[in-house]
Amino acid sequence: MTCLTILEYPDPRLRTRAEPVAAVDGSVRELIDDMLETMYAAKGVGLAATQVNVHRRLLVADISDERKDPRVFINPVILTRTGMTASQEGCLSVPGYYDEVERAERVRVRALGRDGKPFEAELEGLLAICIQHEVDHLNGKLFVDYLSEMKRQRVRRKLEKDRRLQAEGRAPAPARAPSI
Ligand code: ZN
Repeated sequence: MTCLTILEYPDPRLRTRAEPVAAVDGSVRELIDDMLETMYAAKGVGLAATQVNVHRRLLVADISDERKDPRVFINPVILTRTGMTASQEGCLSVPGYYDEVERAERVRVRALGRDGKPFEAELEGLLAICIQHEVDHLNGKLFVDYLSEMKRQRVRRKLEKDRRLQAEGRAPAPARAPSI
């Protein structure tokens, strides 16, 4: 397995709209394994293929504390969205920044699993938020797009500062919330 490089905002490649996965074959399963390894190494709860510069409709998630419950969604479609909830979100492509985003509380999703078989699932809580966040990634959208332009400028300045600190060998502030 290989740990992949995660693209960071404002990289324009994060704006690419991903294409459907044509067939769930060995190379797709290899990508899934690499994405899971990358997500676990980065301590994230979700990762979309877009974030590792593969523009196919595929995402992985694991919201368990034990980090032993990997979920795979290939060609995911959100069928229904119900309720409304606001929560603090972070993103592996926007490291170290968290802000409140409103999302549907529950979603019904149809996708293919790792075995290529279709399934439907009713999701709620963090997993529902995670899936909406990741499907946005597949459509070239980031959680900071829900914020004001003023806040987005602040995010870009913070990321530039953190990269400067890292280049000088100093660590940026630690994570405060799950990053997806
Ligand atoms: Zn994200």
